[in-house]
Amino acid sequence: MSTAIELRGLSKHFGEVRAVDGLDLEIADGEFFSMLGPSGSGKTTVLRLIAGFEQPTNGTITLGGEDVSGRPSFARDVNTVFQDYAIFPHMSVRQNVEYGLRVKRVPRAERRKRAEHALETVRLAGYDDRRPHQLSGGQRQRVALARALVNRPKVLLLDEPLGALDLQLRREMQIELKEIQRDVGITFVFVTHDQEEALTMSDRIAVFNNGRIEQLATPVQLYEHPASAFVAGFVGTSNLLQGEVAEQLVGAEGTFVIRPEKVTMTAPEAAPAAGDGTCVARGVVREVVYLGATTHSVVDLDAGVTLTVSHQNADKTIDAALERRDHPVALVWQRDNLVPLGGPRPGPVASPEEERA
Ligand code: ADP
Ligand code: MG
Repeated sequence: MSTAIELRGLSKHFGEVRAVDGLDLEIADGEFFSMLGPSGSGKTTVLRLIAGFEQPTNGTITLGGEDVSGRPSFARDVNTVFQDYAIFPHMSVRQNVEYGLRVKRVPRAERRKRAEHALETVRLAGYDDRRPHQLSGGQRQRVALARALVNRPKVLLLDEPLGALDLQLRREMQIELKEIQRDVGITFVFVTHDQEEALTMSDRIAVFNNGRIEQLATPVQLYEHPASAFVAGFVGTSNLLQGEVAEQLVGAEGTFVIRPEKVTMTAPEAAPAAGDGTCVARGVVREVVYLGATTHSVVDLDAGVTLTVSHQNADKTIDAALERRDHPVALVWQRDNLVPLGGPRPGPVASPEEERA
């Protein structure tokens, strides 16, 4: 597969702030690529550099094999969709979607045809004459998307485009966006601080921290084999076992992650014996959090660490879990499910970046 975007040694400094700090990255044609990270980690700056709204302090940007580093934004084959999707309130949906084509002096009939197709793609056929205030938040968001798609860019940059929507709508749009991306085959570079959003849609995810990539991997690799404590904590709930705690509970030196759903909780007397493949730890339930589909229990272990355990509320007898607060329990997990941090990682490596991370 050929490369849509290539960043080499890319940096952007604002005075003392290294917003982007020596980034090397390749994004493949047709990929749904996400940049995930906390606020201020440099995600938006990377998008603005790719789009040409900012000039890099150092490094190069290649789009479809051509170095565009010195080019202005209008001479780059990319479009951007922002969180505050900035559609024109006084224009109809059709006028909004046709706007970019009108600027480029595309003939009227062609404009109409392409706008209709773009509106079909985002499931808004027939909404041509509506005004933005007659649309829901999700529909307005899709108009913004159609307005970008109608230009048929090679690359679409999306900066937290679902951030203003409520949770349910956001989840629906995540699925739709993924389907639309598959339909049109355009490379999507999607910025978010929401780990669930990134896991739902992406082919690969780059986790950002302080202007650098902490890990670059598929959603499954990222969750099952986090490369660092930062990634383990940012993507999912991490339970870290390190130092003496690791030696006592795992019987090994190092730092290990055990995910909450891979731990089971039993009464102390019902716990199996710790053995080759099984780890057992005793403790007291400090807090029980009922979340509908799952229940989380926070357990203070005698070994001196706190672990979170989650379980599916598959049957109606969840009261038992809720009543365990302040009770002694045993936690049991399989050694295979421990992920060593900083050591060799199982599974194929996603790219050279991940090796260096
Ligand atoms: P993110 O999108 O991940 O939240 P940004 O790329 O917006 O992060 O910002 C990264 C860092 O760069 C932050 O510390 C931010 O304050 C700083 N920054 C971004 N844009 C500017 C600017 N125009 N001037 C000065 N500092 C900036
Ligand atoms: Mg941002």
